[in-house]
Amino acid sequence: MSGALLELEDLRVHFPAGRGASVKAVDGVSIAVRPRETLGLVGESGCGKSTLGRAVVGLERPVSGTIRFGERVIDWRRERKNLALKRRMQFVFQDPSASLNPRKTIARILALPFITHRVLSGIRLRRRLIELVEIVGLNEHYLDRYPHELSGGQKQRIGIARSLALNPELIICDESVSALDVSIQAQILNLLRDLQENFHLTYLFISHDLSVVHYLSDRIAVMYLGRIVEIAESDELCRRPAHPYTRALFSALPLVDEQRERIVLSGDPPNPVNPPSGCPFHTRCPQAFERCRNEPPKTFHRGGGHLVACHLYE
Ligand code: SF4
Repeated sequence: MSGALLELEDLRVHFPAGRGASVKAVDGVSIAVRPRETLGLVGESGCGKSTLGRAVVGLERPVSGTIRFGERVIDWRRERKNLALKRRMQFVFQDPSASLNPRKTIARILALPFITHRVLSGIRLRRRLIELVEIVGLNEHYLDRYPHELSGGQKQRIGIARSLALNPELIICDESVSALDVSIQAQILNLLRDLQENFHLTYLFISHDLSVVHYLSDRIAVMYLGRIVEIAESDELCRRPAHPYTRALFSALPLVDEQRERIVLSGDPPNPVNPPSGCPFHTRCPQAFERCRNEPPKTFHRGGGHLVACHLYE
């Protein structure tokens, strides 16, 4: 996709599993994220979506494939110390309690990126810290508190403030509201939306929660067993899911103008050490036929940027 801020091409992240076997956590993913859009990434637990996000920012090492960010291809083995590149992309973790050092005040936690990247100090740093807490809806007094003195929602606001510290272009949110109560989730989602508009941010938003992803995302990519099986505009995917796996996932999502039959998938996702031959979903797919067992499906275009990897659409 020309003009994409982030583009992944045939990315694979495999982990050794002993005796020469490997867990194929990400197995040939190609996606692009446009500047200032939110691309939601959904799928069951263990489908590889978090590994994918971590690989983008260099927290996991791909075995093959390409990560292109803006104009350049990134090889994190060579770019480990490239601070200028690292500050352009940030990560917001799932558990706000675990991601904040309990022994440091919020001021020290928020100051760390500035110290690491050697930008701002003294009074200018203090002013920037005040600005950051205010941007996320808190005030100066929170800077002198410790993480345990904050609620879950306030901690996640600090996590978001930290991610904004160095003015990134891309933020990867990995289940960033999953640990919060529903009412707090809504506040954090609205905050993320406002920040995107104000600071022209691009989000890769990873979640297993379809309603949350639908609310925030411009487009949604569906992942199954390390691969993208469908991608489309958010409303299009919710109203006209094409892949049998997406149909099952979204059949549980309440849509006001539509009654649809709930599809319950049988069985657990297969072991990623030894994924099924052919279409990886064939062991659970209610529409599988002979060819699905032997031949991996190609990706088919359904118009309007809607892509689906399924033999039914050939
Ligand atoms: Fe189901 Fe076959 Fe389509 Fe895979 S390719 S989703 S098994 S119909």
